[in-house]
Amino acid sequence: MIKHYVPNLTARIRTTACLLGLCLLASPLLAQTTRTLLHCGNLFVGTTNDLQRDMTIVVEGNKIAAVQRGYTAPTAQDRVIDLKNKTVLPGLIDMHVHLEMETRRGGAIDKYTQNVPDMAYQAAKYAKTTLLAGFTTVRDLGGTGVNIALRNAINRGLTDGPRVLTVGKSIATTGGHADPTNGSRRELMGDPGPMEGVINGPDEARKAVRQRYKEGADLIKITATGGVLSNAKDGQGPQFNEEELKAIVETAKDYGFPVAAHAHGAEGMKRAIRAGVQTIEHGTLMDDEAIELFKKHGTYYVPTIIAGKTAADSARMFGYYPALVVPKALAIGPKIQATFAKAYKAGVKIAFGTDAGVYVHGYNAKEFEYMVEAGMPPVEAIRAALMTNARLLGMETQIGSIEPGKFADIIAVDENPIQNIRTLQSVRFVMKDGKQYK
Ligand SMILES: [Zn+2]
Repeated sequence: MIKHYVPNLTARIRTTACLLGLCLLASPLLAQTTRTLLHCGNLFVGTTNDLQRDMTIVVEGNKIAAVQRGYTAPTAQDRVIDLKNKTVLPGLIDMHVHLEMETRRGGAIDKYTQNVPDMAYQAAKYAKTTLLAGFTTVRDLGGTGVNIALRNAINRGLTDGPRVLTVGKSIATTGGHADPTNGSRRELMGDPGPMEGVINGPDEARKAVRQRYKEGADLIKITATGGVLSNAKDGQGPQFNEEELKAIVETAKDYGFPVAAHAHGAEGMKRAIRAGVQTIEHGTLMDDEAIELFKKHGTYYVPTIIAGKTAADSARMFGYYPALVVPKALAIGPKIQATFAKAYKAGVKIAFGTDAGVYVHGYNAKEFEYMVEAGMPPVEAIRAALMTNARLLGMETQIGSIEPGKFADIIAVDENPIQNIRTLQSVRFVMKDGKQYK
């Protein structure tokens, strides 16, 4: 045994060389692995505000192995990707998408006509579109549960898409935003319960959370107030009482689930913040008291400006939405950007999220332009979609920046996005988990 322990000098030199960051020279193990060298003209690593010129990202397997100054010369086995005339960034993260659905004229009928496989094929297509737009991780905030199957299929490599963290089905109260039977004829309505994500009272609230756990959700979404696109009259009133909210947040905690709360009206928003939700989605009618609560509780705001604008535009087209939806979309949609401006100025913490599906998938990066238009510096808007989101997802050691040890989720665009934020809307290169998709 002892004989085998005798260290050989070459191995020692290799180890020392590796410690000095000179692994290239020495390790036979590395020489066998195919590495991908990304030669980056400009690199935004996501942990600072500036760009670095002429850099190399070394990718091994699905991870970033090193970030090096200059253009590292490849060995015979290495693959080189030339991004010398591009700006390279970490893969973007969207905190609010719906991969099962996409807006279209008359689409309210889909829930009566589509079978689960129809939704599944659609979802696979929308997922791929999202990935190719540079979003390598998304949080799906509600569908029928197909989103859970989609996440699993992507993880198994059966279909292409971003990393998905999903709520499965959102939790609502009877008749609330996300009660799946809203607007149906009486025989079709039935009386959905916690199983279907509809609750009344704290016991059902707890059961609905546990049901999501059982189905394989990654977090919980609630619809704390009325919403725009549900076939129901109210778009902003509170739809949960404090007891129900408390039961949801406390039960979610047992499973390590953060809670995301959809909210337009101020009262429902305040109740949700006080109950301890992690994020408020849309936040349209946020008042000064709500802003103070955000700051006091450290709650994050996910604005979804693009969804508000798109819904308002669509509502102006005759027959696009059911009649009950039109006035809500016109009243609420256009307000979100101003709310965002006010919240940002007041110091509310901002996460990046768009509500994709309410607008056509793949345009997620348009949100950056709207955030900048409303007064947020480009670099802050970009960083909201990187480390801020990564932290909220509990994945800050895995995604959100270009650093050794993280997943190789990397994108590239033509221009410097800090000077021209719109360049993020034309992503030229996408790598996720070390695999090149674009
Ligand atoms: Zn949504």
